[in-house]
Amino acid sequence: MSFSPLIRQLIDALRGLPGVGPKTAQRMALHLLERNREAGRQLAHALEAAMDGVGYCSRCRTLSETEICELCRDPRRDDSLLCVLQSPADVWAVEMAGSFRGRYFVLKGHLSPIDGLGPEEIGVPALLERVQGSEVAEVILATNPTVEGEATAHYVAGLLKPLGISVSRIAHGVPLGGELEFIDGGTLAHALAGRTRID
Ligand SMILES: [Zn+2]
Repeated sequence: MSFSPLIRQLIDALRGLPGVGPKTAQRMALHLLERNREAGRQLAHALEAAMDGVGYCSRCRTLSETEICELCRDPRRDDSLLCVLQSPADVWAVEMAGSFRGRYFVLKGHLSPIDGLGPEEIGVPALLERVQGSEVAEVILATNPTVEGEATAHYVAGLLKPLGISVSRIAHGVPLGGELEFIDGGTLAHALAGRTRID
């Protein structure tokens, strides 16, 4: 059986969502058409409004509806501390944790020469520009603890240190409440390498 053009178009569009295969997309489309047209209209409206209205903060490059985002505008935050992350989702994750009071800067992913992602593509020059002549005294590199994330952190650190900026890397490893015997070797090795002194 083949669907009519509009239904086909809707199913194809839904497949653009992460984790949505053909069967799920079909189920979603038919559900909206048969059972919940109001939700479908709301979804269409919200999608259009968000796609048109959400851009990037010109200062930290996270998703923002205004030229400068709320986090960058907040006068209570510490201008001397800058946390560098790989995506706006990471900004929200750190914000949800609730203990970081500095500023943020979002790189567009990580360095990946194979995919043609060099320093320029991920926004390293913009980061240097953000830092130079600013009040930033310490940069925390919070890229992912993957091979690419580590390489990116290492590369960026090499550019920041000559500018007289203190550079640190987030510690990662043993989760709170975790038991050592259940943690994989790579994670444990990282935790040991990133140990901190107890004074
Ligand atoms: Zn911002």
